[in-house]
Amino acid sequence: MTTNQNIHFARRYFLRWSLTAGSAALLGTLVGCRQDHQTCSLDSLDIVPRADWGAAEPKIEGSAEGVYDITTNPEGWLVYNNPLEEVLTTIVVHHSALPLSDGPREIQQMHFEFKNYADIGYHFVIDEVGIIYEGRPLNVRGAHTGGRNTGTVGVVLLGNFQVDKPTSEQIETLRKLSSCLIELYGITHLAGHRSFQPGVTECPGSNLEYQLPDLATELGITFGTGGYQGQ
Ligand SMILES: [Zn+2]
Repeated sequence: MTTNQNIHFARRYFLRWSLTAGSAALLGTLVGCRQDHQTCSLDSLDIVPRADWGAAEPKIEGSAEGVYDITTNPEGWLVYNNPLEEVLTTIVVHHSALPLSDGPREIQQMHFEFKNYADIGYHFVIDEVGIIYEGRPLNVRGAHTGGRNTGTVGVVLLGNFQVDKPTSEQIETLRKLSSCLIELYGITHLAGHRSFQPGVTECPGSNLEYQLPDLATELGITFGTGGYQGQ
């Protein structure tokens, strides 16, 4: 995604956000409650839908996710059978380790080409101005943390945070998205990718990773891998 496209998205979604925030404030006034106590919905986060970032259709058959069966699992990837509040335990934070110009579309293509995933491996992508892009469906197991994908929500922030620093907008959006996921699904833990695979990856980069324990505390959940319950 080019810088111009990002600016376009920023303007467009700031307008939508302004309208939404204004409506929420008005509603808060009308019902006499504080705006920050209202129930979260992912819709309120103005997530850029797949169609708007040019997502390709998932490539299910023969993917490296290894669960395709034409009769028993024609969807190929793992779709959770149980309600998400019973499945999702941990938000796993990543960096893209790519130039900022490489957005969700480029990541999806790389995951197809080099990883043989069925789709972009993450559930959410956050760009440098804090816009969220829809990744794979939340009710489908991700492909982002080797051997630890069941019940983990993959969130990637664009940038290489071994070298650069995440923007304040990215951190704020990560906080809002995490808060919403916690409220909706009872998620108990937040971790960086490296927490699960120390020595294997530098992801999410030191300049982001050190901020995660405080963020978890602020969100009222636990930092680390202790909530993992998957296979
Ligand atoms: Zn990662």
